[in-house]
Amino acid sequence: MTKKYSIITIFPEIVKTYLGCSILKRAVERDIIHVDLHDLRDYTTDKHRMVDDYPYGGGPGMVMKPDPFFRIMETHWPDRKDRRTIMLSPRGRSFSQALAQELVHEERELVFLCGRYEAIDERVAEHLVDDEISIGDYILTGGELPALVIIDAVSRLIPGVLGDSRSAEDESFSRGLLDYPHYTRPEMFRDMEVPRVLLSGNHRDIRRWRNKQSLKLTLQRRPDLITADSLSKEEILLLQEIKEETS
Ligand code: SAM
Repeated sequence: MTKKYSIITIFPEIVKTYLGCSILKRAVERDIIHVDLHDLRDYTTDKHRMVDDYPYGGGPGMVMKPDPFFRIMETHWPDRKDRRTIMLSPRGRSFSQALAQELVHEERELVFLCGRYEAIDERVAEHLVDDEISIGDYILTGGELPALVIIDAVSRLIPGVLGDSRSAEDESFSRGLLDYPHYTRPEMFRDMEVPRVLLSGNHRDIRRWRNKQSLKLTLQRRPDLITADSLSKEEILLLQEIKEETS
């Protein structure tokens, strides 16, 4: 079944470029994903197609008006059960690989509301939105990049989107650990060698080495990701080994 997304934005052209390249482009061509772009200005009623207005109570910046958002939702998704509406927002819950996994299993269409300016009128969040999602603790100019980040991360998890499905399984976070180091030809680049074990052809040793490197990197850079119940027996032993080597 095709995974359906809709993006509601005042800058559809920003989004179009990214979707027209590489892995997402191929996924669209193969009907694995389908993305509809909606220009919010098409749902305004005044001749200047205004989507923003001054904030009640004063203060800096402009606020996006509720009417175009209600109009577009009522036009395309009169029944809430057909869509899960996600508002991109710095105050939302943090996006993560676990949330990407949750969204890939969502059967309803994912509809992204991209904010601009200072904010979107709060009544949109109260009455139209199912989830507010943030992609990190920083402020961007609009919700288009966050929507693309989410669509990209979710789509990689759909079978057939990546050339080799093992890629998604091996990547950082999917196993709860950071990815191990990768090498390609040449075997000797300037005076830098590829680790011997990777040339050994011994799959067991290679898997063990990679697992150990993943653990080492995670321990150094993201120890918060390592919890006793997330590790296999082999990983617990490897962790012990790493600790002994470094003490
Ligand atoms: N005044 C808002 C605040 O302080 O939280 C920031 C508004 S921002 C300039 C405009 C829009 O960009 C937001 O409505 C949201 O859609 C999007 N945005 C900015 N940073 C984001 C983030 N970290 N995650 C998700 N969306 C973000």
